[in-house]
Amino acid sequence: MPKKQKVNIDINIEKINYKHTNFKKMKKHNFYAGPSILSPYTIKNTADAVMDFAGTGLSILEVSHRSKEFVAVMDETQALIKELLDVPAGYEVVLVGGGASMQFCMVPFNLLKTKAAYLETGTWAVNAIKEAKLFGEVEVVASSKDANFNYIPKNYEIPEDVDYFHFTSNNTIFGTEIRKDPDVKARLVADMSSDIFSRPIDVSKYDIIYAGAQKNLAPAGVTLAIVKEDALGKVDRAIPTMLDYRTHIKKGSMFNTPPCLPIYSALQTLKYYKSLGGVAALEKINVEKATMLYDEIDRNRLFKGTAAVEDRSIMNVCFVMNEEYQELEGEFVEFAKSKGMIGIKGHRSVGGFRASIYNAMPKESVAAFIDVMKEFENKY
Ligand SMILES: *Cc1c(COP(=O)(O)O)cnc(C)c1O
Repeated sequence: MPKKQKVNIDINIEKINYKHTNFKKMKKHNFYAGPSILSPYTIKNTADAVMDFAGTGLSILEVSHRSKEFVAVMDETQALIKELLDVPAGYEVVLVGGGASMQFCMVPFNLLKTKAAYLETGTWAVNAIKEAKLFGEVEVVASSKDANFNYIPKNYEIPEDVDYFHFTSNNTIFGTEIRKDPDVKARLVADMSSDIFSRPIDVSKYDIIYAGAQKNLAPAGVTLAIVKEDALGKVDRAIPTMLDYRTHIKKGSMFNTPPCLPIYSALQTLKYYKSLGGVAALEKINVEKATMLYDEIDRNRLFKGTAAVEDRSIMNVCFVMNEEYQELEGEFVEFAKSKGMIGIKGHRSVGGFRASIYNAMPKESVAAFIDVMKEFENKY
């Protein structure tokens, strides 16, 4: 298991810039919500490793996860996650399959004795609540369901007798986000699937943080959980081996065959993040990108945002056509597509549009999308 090892990397950013690779010719502006855009650095290095992994003469697709080359990838990935998120002692990084959706059940399986508190801020929170109810009492401390989850409830109370409090930091479908780590007395659990690595977090406030990889980290297939060891082993129920965090901690996420390729890709993304200056630098860029786009939505006569202004997500920007232009919705999606803007159709539960502007989305793509919005406005 990696301890506090520093990962040394040397990336020439110039070389991986869109302008300097032949990547450019295949690149559209990818606004998909997930799976979603990955850095060219991630994609290029993954493609190279598919052909020849770490000079082994074998593909990453066909090497043993017990080979020393892959063990090094696993160790480095875990170490870099710890380094980038400043994970304190007493926490372990687990990489497993099953997606964030499996964490919806793993969390209560491992932590819920009698009662847990959940904040209901969107579809993913609803799904997490449903699973937790299989294991004990669930108190929904607040919900924004009354307004189709377009805001984050505030001023709720968390009962003293709960085993933990669970919230979704970024509501991918509705475009709302909690960007401040909450101060609560209860043990804290967060689904950070769609905003992990988008800003610095205070891991010490949490007992479990989990995230599916396919938004800000890697292709789908691997899920990240940062687990405080002290939180485990407190429930009486039997936990199936694969669903017990302790199994994966003990075996360094090598209890069974891990998702090798997504983990390799995750490592590339993490190296790229580090080369950019880490999560604090990423947050700065993310805020700039989101501000540019929200400013245009607020300015443009055709569009309006759907999320409460103070809760707007810096990862998923949701907006609709103003009433009088509603019939132009389909046309805008087609117009944007013709200009290379892919994946901007909103989730069916919100309608309208959603531009996902994850970490790997360059500012140039956001600027290009804004130009398309302006051009469309000029047509009407
Ligand atoms: C995408 C997403 C999920 C679901 O992730 P899977 O890996 O598909 O299970 C859960 N929570 C949030 C916040 C998401 O964005």
